[in-house]
Amino acid sequence: MYCPFCSHGDTKVIDSRLAAEGRQVRRRRECLVCSERFTTFELPELVMPQVRKRDDRREPFDLAKLRSGIVAALRKRPVGSEDLERAIDQIAHQIRVTGEREVDSRHIGRLVMEQLRRLDEVAYVRFASVYRSFHDITEFEEEIRQLRALSGAPGELGQLSLLPEDGGGEKDPKP
Ligand SMILES: [Zn+2]
Repeated sequence: MYCPFCSHGDTKVIDSRLAAEGRQVRRRRECLVCSERFTTFELPELVMPQVRKRDDRREPFDLAKLRSGIVAALRKRPVGSEDLERAIDQIAHQIRVTGEREVDSRHIGRLVMEQLRRLDEVAYVRFASVYRSFHDITEFEEEIRQLRALSGAPGELGQLSLLPEDGGGEKDPKP
C-alpha cells in the first residue's frame, strides 16, 4: 500500500501479529523510500445488524450507545478500561456473528448482562434491575442520562433505583 507520509507506492511489512483476541491482524509497515513506519489493521468486513426495538421500530446498531449504557452501570466501580473495552468488543462480536440482518434489543440486553456479571456484581445488579423494567439497552441509557441531569450524579446502588415504587426525588442537592 502507499506510504501515508511520502506517497511512495511500496511499503514492506516488518511485523505482523494478531490483535483483538485474534479477530484482527495488526501489521507494522515501513516505507522503502522515507523509512517512516505505520500500523495497519486488517479485519473481516461484517455488517452490523439493525436493532429491533420493543415497539418494533428498527434502528442502526450504535456502539457508542452500547458503551455509554455499560459505562453508566459500571460507574465508580473498580473495572479497568481494558476490561470494559474487552467486554464491549465481545458483545459487538457476538452480535456480528449472528449473521442476521436484525437483532432483538432484548438479546443485546442479555449479552450486556452476561458481560457485566463477569466483570462486576454491583454493576450487574444495577443493570439487571433497570433492564427488567425497561428490557432495552437504549431506554436504559436514556433513563440514566435523564436521572443524571435531574439529580446530579447517582453514586450508590440505592440512588440508582429507577423502579416506580421508589417514588423519591425529594433530595435537593445543596449548591
Ligand atoms: Zn514514505
